[in-house]
Amino acid sequence: MSENLKAYMGFSRGAGSPEGACLVFAHNAKEARRLAHFIVSNWFGESWIDTAVLWQKNSPHLFEEADQDKLKRGEPHAIECPKTCSECDLWGSPMGKSGKCIDCEDEEEMFKEEAPCLRT
Ligand SMILES: [Zn+2]
Repeated sequence: MSENLKAYMGFSRGAGSPEGACLVFAHNAKEARRLAHFIVSNWFGESWIDTAVLWQKNSPHLFEEADQDKLKRGEPHAIECPKTCSECDLWGSPMGKSGKCIDCEDEEEMFKEEAPCLRT
């Protein structure tokens, strides 16, 4: 039995993850980096040393974005465009029902609590 895949965020160190990050499913960071590099170097034309990966610990929701067949087979793969939040355009946090991530939803929630008089 093969080891379970882990979720990694692949991005360019130079450009920074908000500029573009891909989602990679791999067994380890080395494998993830190789997969991420194909995509990241395509976006930014950066060199190998510029490609970084970060293990997305405690993010089971990211596995919903995975290719489920490949996930089952334990086949490493990359998702170039994971679903992003409609508000901040980032991914990484779980998405709420509204199409926004829970961080943005939280902010809205706070805003409502602090300023109820603004609601008409
Ligand atoms: Zn957001």
